[in-house]
Amino acid sequence: MPTMSNTECHICHTHKKDKFGYPRCNRNGFRLLHRWVYFQKTGEEPEVVMHTCDNPACINPDHLRAGTQLENIQDRVKKSRSQSKLSEKEKLIVREMIFKGNSERNVSRKLGVSRAVIHLIKEKMEVEV
Ligand SMILES: [Zn+2]
Repeated sequence: MPTMSNTECHICHTHKKDKFGYPRCNRNGFRLLHRWVYFQKTGEEPEVVMHTCDNPACINPDHLRAGTQLENIQDRVKKSRSQSKLSEKEKLIVREMIFKGNSERNVSRKLGVSRAVIHLIKEKMEVEV
């Protein structure tokens, strides 16, 4: 588990936000401000920059950490305790995992999403998962 920083969130009010609430920017090829902030701090561009504080508008470098898309999904599922809000991108990851030879059960366990949901995604059924 990431350790929660004691410092306050720095909520960004100066930038327009995308539909997920992440402040957008256009700096050195970065489209999302928190990714740029993380790059300034670490010099790294990980697959995913996650918020340990769960606050998309937060740009406190202490609240940002590197993660993978897989971790990102696991984190969201864990925190929301719901299996309901997988984005199109996440569904693609599920399909990709299955395509690479992971069983439904395996994917289900790795992501913490129910097997029924994985099955539906696999079948590419048009359901709100
Ligand atoms: Zn924060």
